[in-house]
Amino acid sequence: MRAVNFCAGPCTLPQSVLEEAQAEFVDYAGTGMSLIEMSHRSPEYDAVHNETLELVRSLFAVPDEFEVLFLQGGATLQFAMVPLNLLAGGGSAGYVVSGSWGKKALEDAAYHGDVHTAWSGSDSGFTRMPAGDEVEIRPEWQYLHVTSNETIHGIRMVDWPDADIPLVGDMSSDYLSRPIPWERFDAIYGGAQKNLGPAGLAIVFVRRSVLAETNRDLAAYLRWDIHADKNSLYNTPPVFAIYMMGKTLKWIQAQGGLAAMEAAAGARADLIYGAIDDSDGYYRSPVDPAARSLMNVVFRLPDEDSEARFISEAKAHQLLSLKGHRSVGGIRASLYNAMPMSGVEALASFMDSFR
Ligand SMILES: *Cc1c(COP(=O)(O)O)cnc(C)c1O
Repeated sequence: MRAVNFCAGPCTLPQSVLEEAQAEFVDYAGTGMSLIEMSHRSPEYDAVHNETLELVRSLFAVPDEFEVLFLQGGATLQFAMVPLNLLAGGGSAGYVVSGSWGKKALEDAAYHGDVHTAWSGSDSGFTRMPAGDEVEIRPEWQYLHVTSNETIHGIRMVDWPDADIPLVGDMSSDYLSRPIPWERFDAIYGGAQKNLGPAGLAIVFVRRSVLAETNRDLAAYLRWDIHADKNSLYNTPPVFAIYMMGKTLKWIQAQGGLAAMEAAAGARADLIYGAIDDSDGYYRSPVDPAARSLMNVVFRLPDEDSEARFISEAKAHQLLSLKGHRSVGGIRASLYNAMPMSGVEALASFMDSFR
């Protein structure tokens, strides 16, 4: 029996996707070998690669002005690649530090460029996002970096800052669960393992006009322009991760695409926030209601002993990986695209009976 897996990443994937991969794992399309044993220059892999790029373009509604890159190193490598590519020649940038991920992005960027904190939520324990006009913007900044969803603290950016400089966004944990306002962004990146597939792959979107001016004075792998010129086949790509993401994207397409994912995300989150809000204060959401994440619902119980018991009793009901991040404690239910409504209903009903 499949458990209900609330892990924050890598995360649950559609069962049908896992079964399809299982069925073709040993002998891919009658070739007598597994896809992961083949050359990444073979016609079979080439078809998977290009189909997956096309699925990303169509499901994310990527405008023609953007390149799509498949890279290794996760979102974390992009913390460095963003300033390496964009701040060549001594440019500067601002960072919204809305949680642990925004903070890491800023800390890594500081090795490679002149970067500044444009707003920090640390005083409020990273429980809210800034109002648009709270963020400092300096006209000389090349970009303002934002994290659309803080996976650990369970908050999401609903209103993008009022910036007349371009945005660069880490959207790792809400990819394909909300539309992207492309016109505001120069670059967007995220790991696939939160919403779209297994670990090992980051998807990066870069505006073509920006790509024409990125830093060329870098080791080859670190250059966005090289990956774009080579159709993300400069070196061996993470073939298995791309293949699995392609299958997950086809599943998303069959469910109705982005609009269906967005509606399902709202319905899942409503159910759990409802269970929190209707618990007479037994469960408590520590975050600003206006910034509640639809992907990572964090909550507290009256004390840590009850939280430990909640986690272990939930496990006995096949409700897994509900422990909050070690840096914040409490409970976190991650409700990504492949989380079935039945799993969310099981958690809501467990919350009720546990209380
Ligand atoms: C998980 C996560 C990261 C780190 O991703 P890796 O792929 O592990 O490098 C960065 N940002 C956010 C918002 C995340 O959720």
